[in-house]
Amino acid sequence: MQIQIGPLTYTVLEVEELANGTSELYGDINYGRCRIRIAAESDAQIKLVTLWHEILHGILTGAGQTGEHNEAHIDALAHGIIQTLCDNPELREPAWPPSGGQEA
Ligand SMILES: [Zn+2]
Repeated sequence: MQIQIGPLTYTVLEVEELANGTSELYGDINYGRCRIRIAAESDAQIKLVTLWHEILHGILTGAGQTGEHNEAHIDALAHGIIQTLCDNPELREPAWPPSGGQEA
């Protein structure tokens, strides 16, 4: 799978044994290689949250925010975006007003 983040195309790979030995690792992003890795053994729901988590890191880095990102904020946004898109599928379209929506 490939994900477009700004002008960059990231390759998304599911890999075994992503954990680094000291803590469980669900995924990571390598900006230089334009690569996102997702732990193959994770539940499908966790894989989706992890993908969004890494996409958000990619968005921030692409915007010049190259320092440490607040992991709690990244997780909150990943969960929130997924739930909002699930609850409001019309928001997946880049149009205003969203289909089915009404202008106020
Ligand atoms: Zn992170």
